[in-house]
Amino acid sequence: MTDPFAPLPPSGAVSGGNITCAQCGAMVPAAEASWSGKGEQICKRCEALETIDEGDTRAAVSILGGGIGALSLGVLSLCINPLLLFSAMAIISGVGTLVVLGRHPEYRQRMAWRYPVAIATSVLGILLALVIPFFLFLGLLGIAMSA
Ligand SMILES: [Zn+2]
Repeated sequence: MTDPFAPLPPSGAVSGGNITCAQCGAMVPAAEASWSGKGEQICKRCEALETIDEGDTRAAVSILGGGIGALSLGVLSLCINPLLLFSAMAIISGVGTLVVLGRHPEYRQRMAWRYPVAIATSVLGILLALVIPFFLFLGLLGIAMSA
């Protein structure tokens, strides 16, 4: 049985147990070759680059998740806010996202449109989270003034 999904080796690609890397075109021993996510045979160097790439993209997406989490918690804190718990969580999530973005400027390019969205959602989340504590503070101030 031959695997119908196996890519056909281009003529001349296999010589002396070597394969041609589908990405950089380098000749590498078949024993050192790997499979790419697209099912092509690639060399170790290209495999490493691909792994870093996927990891970075995942990180970039999770940073955006932090910003959206901050915004959701900020909105939630306006409705339900026992002991200012959701305000605190929104601020932690928003500040955490902004700190990560500040420390990793290299994500800016990889995140593309997610970068400004992550910043905007983090800042908005923090601002929304501050609304209830702000009015509580004003209220306490009012009580203190009238006493
Ligand atoms: Zn390669």
